[in-house]
Amino acid sequence: MIAEKIIDFKKSLPEEVQLIAVSKTKPIALIEDALTSGHLDFGENKVQELVEKHEKMPKEIRWHMIGHLQRNKVKYIAPFVHLIHGVDSERLMNEINKQGKKNNRQIPCLLQFHIAQESTKFGFSIDEMKSIISEGKHLNWENIVIKGVMGMASFTEDKYKVEQEFIQLKGYFDEIKSLIHNPDGFNTVSMGMSNDYEVAIKNGSNMIRIGSTLFGARQ
Ligand SMILES: *Cc1c(COP(=O)(O)O)cnc(C)c1O
Repeated sequence: MIAEKIIDFKKSLPEEVQLIAVSKTKPIALIEDALTSGHLDFGENKVQELVEKHEKMPKEIRWHMIGHLQRNKVKYIAPFVHLIHGVDSERLMNEINKQGKKNNRQIPCLLQFHIAQESTKFGFSIDEMKSIISEGKHLNWENIVIKGVMGMASFTEDKYKVEQEFIQLKGYFDEIKSLIHNPDGFNTVSMGMSNDYEVAIKNGSNMIRIGSTLFGARQ
């Protein structure tokens, strides 16, 4: 039973670590089963799937957008999304801010950083983010709450490399926290997936995104 798996998995985590159950590609019936555990945070990586599931499922579910987000799709999730993990450009930030204003809400976001060796992965560089902050651009995003950082480590068996990347991301988090004006709300380090969450937690993660360990391998 998926609900029991979630309950047992949560018991194994340190108290400060929040679990995002990544339900992408999984059918609604399976997520409904998962919900009976009382767990409410679910992650999806495609806008269309996220919107469909939100429409069909109980409204108390907290939906996390964990995938790459295109600017022209922000409007579909802006009314309800609980946290956008993959914010990776200033232009995307501007669009999320605009849609937040339209929906009369502040949309919680994480800054995605590029820490992996693969160039196919998305994210800001720390220099880009530092210049955004020093120019005060982030202060214009009144309909966004920047909650923290997110990153994905390289897809490799090399645990040392993965660990160095997580250490780097936690370093970015600390650095940005020291630079911005609302350091109390800036408290989330979203790093760690099924293959590497233990290394991530050891290096300061407090939000892990777990799919296949809970729901089984994806097709
Ligand atoms: C799919 C996905 C996950 C979960 O991956 P698993 O290896 O199945 O745990 C986490 N984060 C992101 C951004 C993903 O796309």
